[in-house]
This record gives sequence, C-alpha cells and structure tokens, in this order.
Amino acid sequence: MTVEEKRQLELKTMRQIIGIYCHDKHHTQKGKLCENCEQVWQYAQHRIAVCPHMEHKTFCSVCKTHCYEPTYRDKIREIMRYGGPRMLFVSPIQVIRHMYLEWKDRKRSDTFHEN
Ligand SMILES: [Zn+2]
Repeated sequence: MTVEEKRQLELKTMRQIIGIYCHDKHHTQKGKLCENCEQVWQYAQHRIAVCPHMEHKTFCSVCKTHCYEPTYRDKIREIMRYGGPRMLFVSPIQVIRHMYLEWKDRKRSDTFHEN
C-alpha cells in the first residue's frame, strides 16, 4: 500500500466512523453530519492531509504522536470508541479489523499521559 492509498483509506474510514457516530448519537440522516461532527471531520481531514507520519503508522487513532489538538482529540477518541467497533460490522475488511485490534492493544499499553 502506498502512502497515498493509506491516506485515502484513513480518510474513508474516519468519515464512515464519524458518520455512524453522528447518525446514532445526533440522529442525523445517513450520509449527513451535524454541524459539530462536520467540524470534527473537517479538522480530521486537515490533520490527515498534513500528517508527516503516514508512512510509518497505521492510523491516526493509534498514532503515538497525538497531533490532534486537545479539544478535537477528546472528541475524536469518543467517536472512535463508539464507531470503531461498529465499523467491524459495516466494513468487516481486514484492514479495519487490524486497525481496531491495534487500537485496542494500544489502549491496554498506553503510555500516553491522560490529563
Ligand atoms: Zn453529529
């Protein structure tokens, strides 16, 4: 997989997860995002576009460099926590499974200081 393909996959995955979250939590129509989630999505797109680690990592959700600003980081964590497991049912492809397992693994051995 090239870096560009990874970036595209990350974008696609992130959009789907935010979509699931927004649809369930904020009761927006399928395929649409509410204002808040749209903002998070815009921000995530920007971060993914400029991420310098794309080559070495799997997904932003498991990246050691927490480049998301704190306000968005919490929001994205919450969205991932909710939508990540559900993605397995929507797109049970290998890479999503892999992403989720890695994310779960990181949660267990997280050295990142929660504040
Ligand atoms: Zn929403």
